[in-house]
Amino acid sequence: MFYIGPHVSISGSLSLAAERARKIGASGFGLFTRNQRQWVSKPLSSEEIVLFRRSLEDNGYTRDMLLPHDSYLINLGNPDDEKRKKSLYAFIEEERRVSQLGLRYLNFHPGSHVNQIDPDGCLSLIAESLQEALERVPDVEPVLEITAGMGSNMGSSLEELATIIERCGNDSRLGICIDTCHAFQAGYDISSPRKAEAFFDLVEEKLPGRLRGLHLNDAKAPCGRHLDRHESLGKGQIGLDTFLWISSQTRFENIPMVLETPDETLWPEEVALLLQR
Ligand SMILES: [Zn+2]
Ligand SMILES: [Zn+2]
Repeated sequence: MFYIGPHVSISGSLSLAAERARKIGASGFGLFTRNQRQWVSKPLSSEEIVLFRRSLEDNGYTRDMLLPHDSYLINLGNPDDEKRKKSLYAFIEEERRVSQLGLRYLNFHPGSHVNQIDPDGCLSLIAESLQEALERVPDVEPVLEITAGMGSNMGSSLEELATIIERCGNDSRLGICIDTCHAFQAGYDISSPRKAEAFFDLVEEKLPGRLRGLHLNDAKAPCGRHLDRHESLGKGQIGLDTFLWISSQTRFENIPMVLETPDETLWPEEVALLLQR
């Protein structure tokens, strides 16, 4: 089964997300588990947890269909020790929330060297942080998202993602998420089904069995520009054919595929198109 849907809002309450997704016709969805612009948030109450779990069940979703995303403030590769610790604790808190909510994955951007350390050293710091997170919250699977390679952001190549995973002793809980816009911006041309197939074959070659999710976004800028600007499906430089190809391939079944496209009013249409309903 294909798990496709947008990254939905949790405003008002976490337990509203599932209903919002169902109304769009989604068979899966993405979400934050807290306000992503703040470092600290109130712990989940047992009532919130119960309501959230019930809302998933009532709307027909299971944990495998959801891809929670962490806060953008977190940088597990921050060369400043204090700042990295702050990020790591925030990440571990997010993992705990995911675990309490009965979810499986936590999608995150690997980290940035902020021009204070060499990129390879930053990959080691990210791996070190991740290892501690894996130890502290053993039942959540961290998912490293490929980035567009803007500024000092790490994780814009399959090799970098593979290096981080290797430095975590190839822990089987680690997965990756391919954001189509980010991959395209990082220089992987996927602007036709044939090119996309070659790219995803390469993903499987470099990171066998690690694909845990996709972010389905078209891209405003041409390939390789490192510009993280999402576009609605078929309105950007990747083109609709690639997304239709993705939604027809059994290799993408049973992993959440999340739309982070800018025009919310198009979400029902985009989802219906991909689910061929
Ligand atoms: Zn993304
Ligand atoms: Zn993005």
